Amino acid sequence: MADIETIGWVVHEAKQDFKLEELVVEAPRDDELLIDMKFSGICHTDLVFQQGELTLCPYPAVFGHEGAGFIRSIGPKVKNKDLKVGDFVLLSINYCEQCKFCKTKHPANCIHGSKLHLFGTRPDGSCSAKLKRTGESVRSYFFGQSSFMKTNCVAETCVVKYEGSPDDAAMCAAMGCGYQTGAGTVMNVLKPTSDDSVVVFGLGTVGLTAIMGAKYCGAKQIIAVDIQASKLPLAKEVGATHLVNSREVPDIVAHIKELTGGTGVDFAVDCSGVIPVIEKMIDCLAMFGTAATVGVPPSGAKVAVDPLQMLLYSRKYVGVREGDSDPPVFIPKLVEMQKQGQFPVEKIIKVYDYKDMAQALHDLHAGSVVKPVIQWF
Ligand SMILES: [Zn+2]
Ligand SMILES: [Zn+2]
Repeated sequence: MADIETIGWVVHEAKQDFKLEELVVEAPRDDELLIDMKFSGICHTDLVFQQGELTLCPYPAVFGHEGAGFIRSIGPKVKNKDLKVGDFVLLSINYCEQCKFCKTKHPANCIHGSKLHLFGTRPDGSCSAKLKRTGESVRSYFFGQSSFMKTNCVAETCVVKYEGSPDDAAMCAAMGCGYQTGAGTVMNVLKPTSDDSVVVFGLGTVGLTAIMGAKYCGAKQIIAVDIQASKLPLAKEVGATHLVNSREVPDIVAHIKELTGGTGVDFAVDCSGVIPVIEKMIDCLAMFGTAATVGVPPSGAKVAVDPLQMLLYSRKYVGVREGDSDPPVFIPKLVEMQKQGQFPVEKIIKVYDYKDMAQALHDLHAGSVVKPVIQWF
């Protein structure tokens, strides 16, 4: 197969705007698939890299790691023989399949995950695309997919077959990162029962899907917390039983204890990454409670915990990466839940034409959309 001409949103330097560029993609390698993206969700991590807050992926680079599209071709060494040209697939995390966590069905914790996701290259350091106008190599393997590109070579491990109409797939594009992170943290790691209470801090995509997961698990009390009052009604729509505008509550820990009859919460999820919020989240825990860090905190930051309280209450504070999802199993489950009305992600997305990236980012920052999804065709 010859090289393929395509387009993509390229970042040339930290803090520069995404720029729509003509790109040339090389033919997929034997263990890759060529994917024509139809949709791509925009995740906070894409913006962290655009802003240069993490510097693992040099520029120019194409980000995007919530792709959804059609298989255009399949390399002869792709192991999953269930996949056919023309199938519609959702793209998720990349992983090595060899380390002990991959082998035990915890690929979100792949020990090579950071390299496979964040460097923007294949494991051998190569890139799949170049700028057409200069021939300069572009980092185009972000999370094994760089889905802000209309057509790209994708690692096999990223690909999950989608059983449903491609026209309806916009709402599922973010299964591969945002949704599985929120829902998976609750459903795969915390696993609340009908006797448990859950609090979620930060009501973006991850927080709202954590609430959906808590409702699916049957948690008796689901407390949604945000500093923006405008975010609270949607949390109620997707399953929160109690809403807290933390700006209006002088002592959030005391308030949550009051809401839970004085005991504190059994499970807490922080999607904000804000250090004082994380510290308060831990202080909210009931006996034997677990708090999870899911939002990305600043590099090098430290959280203060009271170890005596940790001991006396048998508390746990854990980090959860990508919801401990095993995408080939967990994503089809979430898709099925969505079809059954148990995972109402259709309430949180808005679709933008691919040319309207700037508008999508504007709306995301303004808080008028939770999960922007760009549509390529
Ligand atoms: Zn691995
Ligand atoms: Zn993400």
